[in-house]
Amino acid sequence: MSTRTTSSQRLIELEQRHGADNYHPLDVVLTRGEGCWVWDVDGNRYLDCLAAYSAVNQGHCHPRLIEALTRQAQHLTLCSRAFRTDQLGPFCQELTELTGLERVLPMNTGAEAVETAIKAARRWGYTVKGVPEDQAEIIVFEDNFHGRTTTIISFSTEPDYRDGFGPLTPGFKIVPFGDAEAVAGAITPNTVAVLMEPVQGEGGIIIPLPGTLSRIREICTRENVLLILDEIQSGLGRTGKMFAFEHENVRPDALTLGKALSGGMYPVSVFVADNELMDVFRPGSHGSTYGGNPLGLAVSREALRVLEEEGLVENACERGEQFHRGLAEIEADSIKEIRQIGLWIAIELKHEVGGARRHCVELAKEGLLCKETHTHTIRVAPPLVIEPDQVDWALERLRAVFARLG
Ligand SMILES: *Cc1c(COP(=O)(O)O)cnc(C)c1O
Repeated sequence: MSTRTTSSQRLIELEQRHGADNYHPLDVVLTRGEGCWVWDVDGNRYLDCLAAYSAVNQGHCHPRLIEALTRQAQHLTLCSRAFRTDQLGPFCQELTELTGLERVLPMNTGAEAVETAIKAARRWGYTVKGVPEDQAEIIVFEDNFHGRTTTIISFSTEPDYRDGFGPLTPGFKIVPFGDAEAVAGAITPNTVAVLMEPVQGEGGIIIPLPGTLSRIREICTRENVLLILDEIQSGLGRTGKMFAFEHENVRPDALTLGKALSGGMYPVSVFVADNELMDVFRPGSHGSTYGGNPLGLAVSREALRVLEEEGLVENACERGEQFHRGLAEIEADSIKEIRQIGLWIAIELKHEVGGARRHCVELAKEGLLCKETHTHTIRVAPPLVIEPDQVDWALERLRAVFARLG
């Protein structure tokens, strides 16, 4: 059981008095992390089952990433894209080899990578496909999550993300997630792209029916529409494959990556695409001061090596199966359904239970950090370095809390 002292209470009060109120965190004040574990200021230890929304797939404070960060910090951290660095070429080459797409444009946050994708698709529409100026349409999905910029929230279907932030950006058509025929029906001569999470993360680990992604791929190819996959959360091992699109053997026209791309050490994101699409960017048309900085790229290159050399994709698969077996044994009236792919798990509670917050608070008291997603869902997504005995430990805590709360 965790204890809370006046020192954590004081830090919480400072935050509440001087910080913006745009999150609703659990009252756990963390100060240290290592692998799957984190510690609060009172010395309580927790198993992190959120992994910073998959940004720390490699585990907290991975020694190799700290090494890469400190080594590069002593050489060169930022010189802007006005000059070249020795990190950019190798970084781009390594990512093209990993993704099978031809060219890479680095940014910082996930939202910026998605903004880059939107700009690329629109310009491709005007210069290659021949769409009349300012008429480009992009098809997106209900319950999508692609970030928080003004343009991106313009096509969110979540009122909390959108309300009060208008005027919103036009040019998006929203169809039900996982409905390939709805995509086909929404395409017009002005459609330039379909922007899709292969599995919806923030939406609550929503997994489309098998065959959906390959059907959407066929439709996009037939209609000369780009298929852009946002794998910022689903990519880099989370689903038990390096990329979620590998479950369907689909090749996207472009990809956005972020989060685990730098293992929680530093914000790095990318837009990756083939030549025809990337060529729409010319000097001056897009950029970012920190985008592609050598410090971020050195960390990111090491983060990708860690994923491969430590077999984290395979581990996501195996530990995912272990979770699956353990969760199947939990019997609780409150559970509506469990959705899972790889090490990405959503335990959805029946709505009459009144929300998953209470379960998350009780789990934290047991030493397991989860966070409710969309009120009714407990998301379990530990770092991909999790070990078999840690999975058993987590299952034990889940069993205890469901036994107590039903
Ligand atoms: C988190 C996320 C983003 C936004 O990333 P930020 O780094 O928070 O801007 C975009 N798309 C998906 C699918 C995400 O999960």
